[in-house]
Amino acid sequence: MKASISKIESFSTTDGPGIRTVLFFDGCSLRCKFCHNPELWQKKEENIELEDLLEKIRRWKPYYQKNGGITLSGGEPLLQSEFIIELCKRLKKEGIHIAIETSGIANHKIEEILSLVDLVIFDIKGTTKKKLEEITQRKAWNQVEEFKKKLIQSKKSVWIRQVIIPNVNDKLENLEELKEYIKEIDNIENIELLPFHTMAFTKYQELNIKNPYQEIPAMDKQKCKDLENQLLEERKETH
Ligand code: SF4
Repeated sequence: MKASISKIESFSTTDGPGIRTVLFFDGCSLRCKFCHNPELWQKKEENIELEDLLEKIRRWKPYYQKNGGITLSGGEPLLQSEFIIELCKRLKKEGIHIAIETSGIANHKIEEILSLVDLVIFDIKGTTKKKLEEITQRKAWNQVEEFKKKLIQSKKSVWIRQVIIPNVNDKLENLEELKEYIKEIDNIENIELLPFHTMAFTKYQELNIKNPYQEIPAMDKQKCKDLENQLLEERKETH
């Protein structure tokens, strides 16, 4: 059994708890205007065998220590659900912590995948139908709503992530919308607001893809952190 994975980051400390290996699965059907991995949009030829991948992971396992593990990211990992399911079953047997980072846009075998992972990093692209469609350039609202429902039912631990973009979603009213959007998810362990950056602009040029946010400046990191702290404080008071 094979998957299309374009990059493996063996020692990440930013995509879930502890030291982790992050697998970047190829393929994504959204076209987020802020995407910093447009090279992952197209699914490429399957290039890695499950057994070979597991062999690599076993070598890194000692570094995961107590709370590290594997993060399935992309692209959109849910689009390679059959492989993900087999991989997760094998990782579980070996006692490795599994996180999946997803925007929730696929519905094939979601319940089974959710039952196998330990943590879901839910990338929220838009907190209203209008915003989601504007930012992702796709009509994905119903799919994401369906995913959110299944995520809530799964009772899995959740980290929330949202990219904050100047003049797009950096106002207090957007924070209110995000609070409203996530209020039914009661197993949230962490919330991260990530500042939009312009480092991927050169990729758009190299790939000859139109960059819709070409004129948008990088998000002020401190302003983004302040918004995140405000959100965390307010949630602390109400939970
Ligand atoms: S879901 Fe992720 S990979 Fe897909 S377009 Fe959006 S930011 Fe890019």
